[in-house]
Amino acid sequence: MTLDLITIPCLADNYAYLIRDKATGQTALVDVPESAPILAELTARDWRLDKIFLTHHHHDHVQGTEDLVKATGAAVYGALADVHRLPPLTHALKEGDEVTVGDSIGQVIDVSGHTLGHIAFLFPSARLAFTADSLMAGGCGRLFEGTPATMWASLSKLAALPEETLICSGHEYTTSNLRFAATIEPENQALLNRMDRVASARAAGVPTVPSVLSEELATNPFLRAKLPHIKQALGLGAASDAEAFAALRARKDTF
Ligand code: ZN
Ligand code: FE
Repeated sequence: MTLDLITIPCLADNYAYLIRDKATGQTALVDVPESAPILAELTARDWRLDKIFLTHHHHDHVQGTEDLVKATGAAVYGALADVHRLPPLTHALKEGDEVTVGDSIGQVIDVSGHTLGHIAFLFPSARLAFTADSLMAGGCGRLFEGTPATMWASLSKLAALPEETLICSGHEYTTSNLRFAATIEPENQALLNRMDRVASARAAGVPTVPSVLSEELATNPFLRAKLPHIKQALGLGAASDAEAFAALRARKDTF
């Protein structure tokens, strides 16, 4: 890998990620739930922070930004669409734009649905995708602002990435996500195996992120809404993929 990746637990169940280009030492952070654990990690590693990439406007992803900028002078990148409700940005991004971490190039894609203006950062050379509250480990974010069709389109972009891509998502919700998945596919052996692995990881206090896209494709019901047996399990044999996704998301909302 061209980038080192450090997963930093924050608040009760959030994650931030540090990425550092091995060739140049340039370092970026994805999301700032709070500043203290990030500053501690930077100090422990003797790393300077150059850039902050924000995925969406929710407080639990951005509220440490101004503190961290004061301490590090890092540049702040976020969605142009959300410039009115993000911390002050030095760089406003839209789908198709590129960011860099040293020699590594990241692509910005729009993954609206959880919010309108939610972006993800893809680093194809390192096989990393920072998805925050769009595609999550075993699940996806709640639809606060977008329609099911919008979120389905966003998840479909992520599902089309190379299947070895690491999905760096925003929360430790995996246990309850997989418990819901098992109500939809109780006989999915890959899912049952993943539930065991996740239970062991959580018992040891280990994060269940990042996850691998291949395991999401095999176990995450929100990526599997298009499969005939899932539509059938929902009683929606003739539904469109987006309609099946909408029904799944509605079920999860009251799970
Ligand atoms: Zn959020
Ligand atoms: Fe969140």
